[in-house]
Amino acid sequence: MNEKLNHEATESSTKRMIKNMGDIEQKILIVDDEKANRKVLKELLQDQATIIFAKNGEQAIELAKKHVPDLMLLDVIMPDKSGFEVIEEIKNDPVTMAVSVIFITGLANSDDEERGFDLGGCDYIYKPFKANIVIARVLMHLELIYQRKMLDSIAHIDALTGISNRRKMDAVLVDEVAANKRDKKQLLVAIIDVDFFKQYNDNYGHGAGDIALKKVAATFREVLKRPRDFAARYGGEEFVMILPDSNLDGAKLVMNNLMQALADKAIIHEHSQVSRYLTMSIGAVLIDGEQSTSPEQVIGIADRLLYQAKRQGRNQIVVETFFKTQAAV
Ligand SMILES: [Mg+2]
Repeated sequence: MNEKLNHEATESSTKRMIKNMGDIEQKILIVDDEKANRKVLKELLQDQATIIFAKNGEQAIELAKKHVPDLMLLDVIMPDKSGFEVIEEIKNDPVTMAVSVIFITGLANSDDEERGFDLGGCDYIYKPFKANIVIARVLMHLELIYQRKMLDSIAHIDALTGISNRRKMDAVLVDEVAANKRDKKQLLVAIIDVDFFKQYNDNYGHGAGDIALKKVAATFREVLKRPRDFAARYGGEEFVMILPDSNLDGAKLVMNNLMQALADKAIIHEHSQVSRYLTMSIGAVLIDGEQSTSPEQVIGIADRLLYQAKRQGRNQIVVETFFKTQAAV
């Protein structure tokens, strides 16, 4: 237990983390019944992550549920619950099942090691601690966890515009339709289409078209203020907007602001038949939580209303409430 800390290694590792991980703060839950062990691990790892401690198995499970750490360093031998019992509970709870677990053990026994991996552990650290090994192992896992999270978020982002993509939209729509029913609120779902976009691309080129789409996406960022308000690129020049806990007046205001925000950008479109500038058409439906509706139906209705907006001359909003058609705004 008298391991000397290798400060040089700690420092260069810290730099590596900062370079790779930006501002992301990761959490490590250290579980060990011996105070001296907790102290050594804290000294080794406090520059790499936020550290939380548990001194027994029960506390470990409680804190894992509360904080959902990225990584857990889990002592195998503890008086109340063994590390093996703790990991079984962690991996069986949907809240904590994704937490990565490194076992800490003094047992260099391959049967035990095998058991730990079978239960879902991702690595072993042996006592007495060797500073460089502890840091190297923990950093490797923190980086893997970080990269997995990044990939996950990239998979939900539209590469061109940086807003959410259709896959993310599908998931959000399912959640919000369910929440709308449960909470008996009103949910607005809108499909937004850029007018005469084919003509824009044909005349100004696809590079200019891409820039225009980025500017359209930016209008959502400017206009949507509430945390659950959501916008995604649906595909091509189509976007979807989801406003939970909305109402007709509020939704109309947001949609008008959206059209105004695009108008303010004054993107010249000499080949549009409705304006000198780039415009959008919006088909939107406000669904009452009392109505029984599926996400597919909601999109189907919004799509039909978008088509109506196009047919009526584009550059306009058509919104329907409770399945009763309202006049265009
Ligand atoms: Mg112990």
